[in-house]
Amino acid sequence: MITASKAKIEPGRLLIDGQWVEGGKTLDSINPATGEVLTSVVEASAQEVDRAVEAARRAFAGGRWRAMPASERGRMIWQLADLVENHIDELAELETLDNGKPIFESRQVDLPMVVDVLRYYAGWATKIHGETVNASDTAFTYTLREPVGVVGLIIPWNFPLLLASWKLGPALACCNTMVLKPAEQTPLTALRFGELAVEAGLPAGVLNIVTGGPETGKAMVRHPGIDKIAFTGSTIVGKEIMRSGADTIKRVTLELGGKSPNIVFADSDLDSAVRGAVNGIFYGKGEVCNAGSRLFIESRVRDEFMNKLVARAKKMQPGDPLDPKTRMGAIVSREQMNTVLGYIDAGKKEGAQLIAGGKPVSVDGGNGFFIEPTIFDGVHNDMKIAQEEIFGPVLATLSFDDVDQVVELANRSPYGLAAAVWTKDLKKAHQVSRRLRAGTVWINTYGLMDASLPFGGYKSSGFGRELGQAALEHYTEIKTVWLNMG
Ligand code: NAD
Repeated sequence: MITASKAKIEPGRLLIDGQWVEGGKTLDSINPATGEVLTSVVEASAQEVDRAVEAARRAFAGGRWRAMPASERGRMIWQLADLVENHIDELAELETLDNGKPIFESRQVDLPMVVDVLRYYAGWATKIHGETVNASDTAFTYTLREPVGVVGLIIPWNFPLLLASWKLGPALACCNTMVLKPAEQTPLTALRFGELAVEAGLPAGVLNIVTGGPETGKAMVRHPGIDKIAFTGSTIVGKEIMRSGADTIKRVTLELGGKSPNIVFADSDLDSAVRGAVNGIFYGKGEVCNAGSRLFIESRVRDEFMNKLVARAKKMQPGDPLDPKTRMGAIVSREQMNTVLGYIDAGKKEGAQLIAGGKPVSVDGGNGFFIEPTIFDGVHNDMKIAQEEIFGPVLATLSFDDVDQVVELANRSPYGLAAAVWTKDLKKAHQVSRRLRAGTVWINTYGLMDASLPFGGYKSSGFGRELGQAALEHYTEIKTVWLNMG
């Protein structure tokens, strides 16, 4: 039996100006492991978005938040991290119920990183500063780093609270106010986080939360009261945000899709590379922006590698996401499951060989959205399954014979989010890393992240960087001040 939630989840409301308010329309949040409704949340209208933006503008215009010493702001972010840590089991369970990801991932990876990210940016609150510049003898010139203003945070469903924290952390550290919109499929942890923010004493209007789908997001992007949109999601929506944000000259940062190459040279530790390849694509059910979804294997170890890969993938069968032993959870929604199955059909039609998985499965006789870990062999780089982001547990494997060939193939993609190289030859590893057009390159590992290291894309994977010091630039404006001393 798929484990049921321990507690009944109350219907969600909107957080506006420090108050929880009812909305007009609602939408259901579904448990993808059972297909059942978990609860309902508000589908915020343009008028409701407007109220949230007005609250954020008032909080930005003056009052306790803007007057607060930076050290107190840092302490408040740190306290928020403590509250998340104190409620980590509850938040992890909510994330798993809403998204279908294994509780192992929510409890051991996502939520601990939310805590780390908040603490990392709590430390930055006291270190945001401009410079004095000796431009002229007759002037005193300096720069100030000021908050951008009201920031709209639009979040996808694959790492709901984690990706929100990547934006909330720097936005708060730099003294912005914000309107946060989680994805319509996974709104629950953002709402619980909002309750913790109220408990932490965050002044009213600093963090407003509106739930809803694309229409709610569009109302945010159009709104003249929002200065910047920080978006994570698909490339197609990212393009639309750039276009509609142009009317109000929105500052925009975009963390978009990927089709990341994972390159295995014959001189690598093959067993580690097999583990890296399996985790690279099947962690998070493959619903991971930096999934290693194009696996390049040097021809002379191809057969040995493929045998090991398939054996390992077959052990990774989907299971109840709330079971701590499960490593493959439920696809986030029926719609996403159908999209992934459509790509599996396309791969077969294009002539790739399906060598593992490929089918939906029922876990414990239920109606959840589960797909077997799927591997295609004999893929060509120009096939649809090698070029388009599938965002599911589907691996395309390709072969290569030399460094130049694999670099050229790896870069022949519209995306440039991440890449990995497996080899014991570190000179080759560094040379290849420099030639790959990607925002992150892992050598002899896959998928590692840290709050202190920038993450983001080249090409159609977006622009701007999250995490690390680099993110702070996107949440501040620079002001230059001239004082005439002549
Ligand atoms: P999506 O683009 O459909 O939706 C993302 C968010 O945007 C949701 O909150 C959605 O309601 C909102 N939205 C949808 N249409 C909108 C519009 N026209 N205007 C404003 N907001 C709108 O993406 P998704 O399906 O939720 O997430 C999967 C995508 O996210 C994948 O492409 C994945 O690669 C990408 N992603 C990227 C990163 C990264 O760091 N680069 C991380 C995670 C996910």
